[in-house]
Amino acid sequence: MRTLSLALVAAYAVSGLSRTVIPAQQLSGIETLLQEPAVRGALDSARSTESLTLDDQVRFCQTAAPPFREAARGEHLRRAFVQLGLQNVRVDPEGNVLGDRPGLTPRPHVVVAAHLDTVFPPETDVTVRRAGATFSGPGVGDNCRGLAVLVAIVRALRSAGVKTPGSITFVANVGEEGLGNLRGVRELFGVGKGGAGSARTAPRPDIDRFVSIDGPGVYVSHIAVGSHRYRVTFKGPGGHSYAAFGTASAIGALGRAVAKIAELQVPDQPRTTFNVGRIGGGTAVNAIPSDAWMEVDLRSSDRAALASVDAKFQRALEAAVTEENARWGRAGVITASRELVGDRPSGSIPASSSIVQTALGAANMLGLNAQLSEASTDANLPISLGIPAITIGGGGVGADAHALTESFDSTEAWKGTQHALLVTVALAQK
Ligand SMILES: [Zn+2]
Repeated sequence: MRTLSLALVAAYAVSGLSRTVIPAQQLSGIETLLQEPAVRGALDSARSTESLTLDDQVRFCQTAAPPFREAARGEHLRRAFVQLGLQNVRVDPEGNVLGDRPGLTPRPHVVVAAHLDTVFPPETDVTVRRAGATFSGPGVGDNCRGLAVLVAIVRALRSAGVKTPGSITFVANVGEEGLGNLRGVRELFGVGKGGAGSARTAPRPDIDRFVSIDGPGVYVSHIAVGSHRYRVTFKGPGGHSYAAFGTASAIGALGRAVAKIAELQVPDQPRTTFNVGRIGGGTAVNAIPSDAWMEVDLRSSDRAALASVDAKFQRALEAAVTEENARWGRAGVITASRELVGDRPSGSIPASSSIVQTALGAANMLGLNAQLSEASTDANLPISLGIPAITIGGGGVGADAHALTESFDSTEAWKGTQHALLVTVALAQK
């Protein structure tokens, strides 16, 4: 451990086995920022207006935002951006809501984003209930907290008149969850809609740094866990279970495939996982199934490891079909087709990189202990494109994300607002 030449307690960010000492340079840059009256004023404002931030959080949350239907919630954000004086407020073709806060120069150009969408279907009751400091309701933390903090940053910068050397675009984006497949940030960065390898398109050249505020807590994620998701369909002729006995079965092939997938060997480091999440098929107990399907999720924080487990999965599938057909003596009876329904690129940026250290340093200066973590978020896309990008939390303490019982404890949540604000200002420096 290196002692810092600052009147500060040195901070550690603990990530798995590694322990990171924040370079003095990063801390001193933020310390200089904290000496600017406007920046101090903005931090004070973020704290004193936390009740407005919580009001926003509840208001945004009580407008449903199911996947592919984020427009109504997006309208709240559009209005807030206009009211708070962002320029060129617009909704792009995919549904992202954007507003600019020009700095003294166009670069660096920082994008600060929070996703609008939830995992919940349209019929979900999105009423938010409050008991003391705790709010309960689907999506209240993930990601109404992020959206409210996004607006709080704009409000605090405006009320304190902060001027930044670089320019900031605030984005409430669509398509982070599930089958949204990062369609919002794909549009933002001008890359394709998915499909293996499509994220390797040249990135939009005018975004220098990207921060996503996603859910509660105080964390800094710099490892993007990628995933491939497939829906696999098995088909065959089917037939009567007695009269047509001897015909290969779609469920027979599916069962063989599930058994083979269950035996796949994957590394602990980089962490790589597989899951058969849902299965279905067949029509009756006395009918040989003519169809069966399964949904499979493969993940890794490492691109090569994800490609490797994907290849093993494909081989398992082919072997399962071959074996089912061979068992009943006829090739080609059962076929399997697979559809890639989710493709999140993986990657990571070093813990020692400037953007990570800035976010950790900002937490340190505010007396917060930010955890370095890995996550699967909107930052996956820019990270895979080589653009400095992180995901941070919006403060407070969350529980039961993606469940109807989701809750958010707002005790000292303003500290998260301040952190996101300070990170934004620090990244908009030269
Ligand atoms: Zn989220």
